[in-house]
Amino acid sequence: MISRASFLWAAGLEKMDIDGRRLVDDLRALARIGKVGTGVNRLAFTPDDVAARQWLLARMGAAGLDARIDGLGNVYGQTPGATKAVVIGSHTDTVPKGGWLDGAMGVIYGLEIARAVMESGAEGGVDVVSFADEEGTFLGTLGSRSFVGELREEDLAGAVNGDGEALAASLLAAGYGHEDRAKLDPARHIAYLEGHIEQGPRLEAEGVRIGVVTSIVGMRRMLVVFHGQADHAGTTPMAMRKDAGGRMVDFAHELTGKLGATAGKDTVWNFGRMVFEPGASNVVPQRAELLIEFRDIDMAVIDEMEAVIRTGVAAADGLGGVRTETSVLETSAPAHMDASIGAAIEAAAKAAGAMSLAMPSGAGHDAMHLASHVPSGMLFIPSKGGRSHDTAEDSAEEDIVLGCRVMAGTVARLLGLSE
Ligand SMILES: [Zn+2]
Repeated sequence: MISRASFLWAAGLEKMDIDGRRLVDDLRALARIGKVGTGVNRLAFTPDDVAARQWLLARMGAAGLDARIDGLGNVYGQTPGATKAVVIGSHTDTVPKGGWLDGAMGVIYGLEIARAVMESGAEGGVDVVSFADEEGTFLGTLGSRSFVGELREEDLAGAVNGDGEALAASLLAAGYGHEDRAKLDPARHIAYLEGHIEQGPRLEAEGVRIGVVTSIVGMRRMLVVFHGQADHAGTTPMAMRKDAGGRMVDFAHELTGKLGATAGKDTVWNFGRMVFEPGASNVVPQRAELLIEFRDIDMAVIDEMEAVIRTGVAAADGLGGVRTETSVLETSAPAHMDASIGAAIEAAAKAAGAMSLAMPSGAGHDAMHLASHVPSGMLFIPSKGGRSHDTAEDSAEEDIVLGCRVMAGTVARLLGLSE
């Protein structure tokens, strides 16, 4: 039975609408900070990244949010007076020469929806967050890990960027580094939402404008190393070589078929690096290494892919006098979005006259850390040509606005249901 108060609350939110022009203007203004060609370059804690955080802090303040930047650079704004809130966020840092929407769009969605909710006079709040260093200049998803209490102090202490600069020193140089840490508040926060560009070609290919993320894939990286013997490549007969490079190429070719037979429908894998040592045309390779990465939404499939690689390595070990070994370098578990939030996104898309497609996210996002602490949902819009992590990244303005409208409809449903 819906109470009168919640009916009025829902009725107020029903009238809520976002301002598409204001949303796009804010995104375009943010894209001018660190602009490089049609993209942006805002690596975590560089002057442009810090300038973007300061700009966002000012925009949050102008919107009426209680906003601050915490000691890790998270920009966090709360709706004043609200006792229950949906957190909406993403990140404003980028990869080198990245796109203008990766991360930024999800943050500005939060800002615009917070403004729309406040302007509608509805009760219930939207808290907005831009998480620090999602892209891993120092430590990937630094801000969201801290927000949910998963950041370990030793990770923080040991983190350096590609130039060997320490995270702690860079935080201080940026004017952060103080003790304050913005935190998820279980008593206040009923859900986390993140809007993002798809960064892949599926929505565009299907002609669908809204993606409802079911899960963020888990990932495992494995290294296979081949130990042979360096010899003169002109004088050593083929049958007498211990050719680590030749063995690696044969192994990779055979493995391709075996991984294909094991993969699920959305499993992806990649041979991202092959190294031949010493790497000269006239030397038989004495050592070779193959870097393999694979991703799936099901941990069991990830484990099976690893088992196939291990079986292949065991079978290859010793062939042609080449010793072969493997190890796991890195692993992360799949994160599952909340099914009822997914249904709310789908319903909001329908109400906005848009079709939606349920799909996994093959890329990692801040939402993967939030998901095990608060019911979480993610919404995708199409990426032109599937391009991302490049200045060519772009999406149609109509799709950017539609995505925000669908997320606002989702927020209305979540706040209405929370009574
Ligand atoms: Zn992103």
